[in-house]
Amino acid sequence: MQRRIFLKNSSLVLAAIAVFSNKTIAQLIADPAWKITMLTDDIGIFTEKGGTILFYLSKDGIVVVDSQFPDTAPHLIDELKKRSQQPFRLLINTHHHGDHSSGNIAFKGLVQHVLAHENSKTNQERVAKEKKNEDQQLYPDQTFGTVWCEKIGGEEVCLHYFGAAHTNGDALVQFKKANIVHMGDLMFNRRHPYVDKNAGASMSNWITVLDKAYSTFNKKTRYVCGHAAEGYEVIVNRDDLKLFGDYLSKVLQFTEAEIKAGKTKEEILKKWDEETEVINHYFNMISEERFQETFNLFGEYEFPVYQNILYFVDNEVHHRGQGYVYLRALGIEPPFFWERF
Ligand SMILES: [Zn+2]
Ligand SMILES: [Zn+2]
Repeated sequence: MQRRIFLKNSSLVLAAIAVFSNKTIAQLIADPAWKITMLTDDIGIFTEKGGTILFYLSKDGIVVVDSQFPDTAPHLIDELKKRSQQPFRLLINTHHHGDHSSGNIAFKGLVQHVLAHENSKTNQERVAKEKKNEDQQLYPDQTFGTVWCEKIGGEEVCLHYFGAAHTNGDALVQFKKANIVHMGDLMFNRRHPYVDKNAGASMSNWITVLDKAYSTFNKKTRYVCGHAAEGYEVIVNRDDLKLFGDYLSKVLQFTEAEIKAGKTKEEILKKWDEETEVINHYFNMISEERFQETFNLFGEYEFPVYQNILYFVDNEVHHRGQGYVYLRALGIEPPFFWERF
């Protein structure tokens, strides 16, 4: 492909993305901000921004699983007040991430208890301290280690901990009678997940956790996902759990194989330094006139040399961007783009 065509195609793609984004924004404006879907007569989900919220309107009080953000949680609270006269009995956090727990603050003075895994509470406290927003938190006043169960209304609500996965404090919240399990961010439907290494995440144990979720519950169980890709449901069945587990296994296998086959960071950096010296040596031998000469790069790009060099710069920017996306997808925070090692 000629560079001009290549550039034209790239511009078209950019234009398409711009149009698509505008359409998405228009849809967001047109649609109501939030959505409630009932799964049974008294259990439903609330979606707006951040992790999926589940609520249970029992005759013994309202139970809410996850709280999204401080600006969205009040929408849920208002709506539930319209649907039930009961007090807010229990707020459960599947884990500490801000898109699941920062809305807790909206329940301050309203809910009787906040419950999460003990590591989730520790993580929430640590992150709030780091971000200096401790005054904007409502922390759990109850925690559990491996399993916690309570009869509420006609339901038995159980929290299970199967070990580190998305973080080291992910609870699976089971509503036994309704046969519904809120997976929090243990389930991303058709979406690459965030792996929070700083909070003790484990990719390999995540696969085990999904296996356990598959075998502990049954084929009629409905699982609530924290997140789903655009166009996909947040309610899934155990086949979807299996699919996500297989995906994580493949990502892990690929990464491990690459590390095994690859060189150490030191080896690569040493090679880089050696090559740079060679390049500098030859580069200084090129006269200015030669930059105007036409050169056929890779048998495809027939342009003056200086344009080919600009292509290299573009190419580096492009691949750096890809590298950053890849690192973030693995839960690694890359260095600032202006830092060179
Ligand atoms: Zn989330
Ligand atoms: Zn999360």
